[in-house]
Formats: sequence, C-alpha cells, structure tokens
Amino acid sequence: MTHDQGLVNAWIGFGANLGDPQKAIQSALRSLVSTSGTSVTAVSSFYRTAPVGFDDQPDFLNGVARIKTNLDSGVLLGRLLEIEAEIGRIRTSERFGPRVIDLDLLLFGDQIIDSDVLTVPHPRMQLRRFVLEPLAEIEGEMVFPGGITLSACLKDCENQEVTREGVIDFLGAN
Ligand code: AMP
Repeated sequence: MTHDQGLVNAWIGFGANLGDPQKAIQSALRSLVSTSGTSVTAVSSFYRTAPVGFDDQPDFLNGVARIKTNLDSGVLLGRLLEIEAEIGRIRTSERFGPRVIDLDLLLFGDQIIDSDVLTVPHPRMQLRRFVLEPLAEIEGEMVFPGGITLSACLKDCENQEVTREGVIDFLGAN
C-alpha cells in the first residue's frame, strides 16, 4: 500500500540500551534503507543518555533519521514494529524478553495523526532532549505541526543530560 500523494519526509527516533545498542541501531537503519519505497536521507550522530527513573540499567544510545517514503503512516508504523521484532528476535531468545531497540515515528510530513494505534507528532518527543538534540543536528530549526519550534522545546529541556558520541556508520557495519 502506498501514499498516493507522493513522497513524504518522516522522522524516526531510535533508542537502545540492551545487548549491543550500536549494532541494533545500525541494523535498524539498514532495514529502513531496504524498505520498499523508502530512502534514508539524513542520520544524526549517536547520543548517549543516562537512564531516567530506573537508574539500574545501562545508558541509552539514541538518534534520529530522516526518511523519504511513499508508504502511508500506518504502513510505515507497521514496518517499524516489524523491524523492532526482527532485531529483538536476533538479540534475545526469551519470548517476552526486554526489547533491544525502540523505533518511534516522530513526525510524518506536517501531519497531525491521532488514531488508536498512532499519535503523530510523537506525544513525548517535544519533552525529550535525546530526541530534540539529534533532530536539531540534522535539521537545524524546525517548526512542528501546531506551531511550536524545535529550539523552544530544546530550551525547555536543556537541563537533561545528553552526550554526543559520534557518527553512525550503518552501511558499512555488520
Ligand atoms: P513503544 O514501543 O512503547 O514505543 O510503543 C509502541 C506502540 O505505540 C505501537 O504499537 C504503536 O501502536 C503505538 N504508537 C502510537 N504512536 C506512535 C508513534 N508515533 N511511534 C511509534 N509507536 C506509536
């Protein structure tokens, strides 16, 4: 199924903190590249984020990618869940084991979507520096649907700790 109005820019947030987070994120990006009707047009650096709330777990690696796709938003969400499942199955043999990758559909063009399965813009993205910082790296300033700017959101969460780690070389990785 395709989006018959042509190609849409969408932004995907990713995070991982179990197993080999770097490999999981690289693998997710390669899966996005090989997704029908979809190309990856920009990828941020990795950002290391201390866990909030449950301190007794490894740091997270986070980042953001911009894609161009002719999939509609529901099909794209399905594909993200499929990629999560594929990577999760490789990394853990426990049926209900912890997830090793989290993929969020942050923005889909300038659309506002509120269905049973999908909320876009992602409901928590404007509060999370580990999303906003990599987004600012690849986009500079942005105005989100609804009118609030990326820089205003970033200012509101500047006390959150996020460390830029380095570039994501996902095409060459295995
Ligand atoms: P989680 O893995 O905790 O991020 O939750 C995944 C579930 O959240 C999916 O099954 C989706 O139906 C739902 N969801 C709602 N909005 C979004 C979004 N913007 N991006 C990803 N998942 C979403």
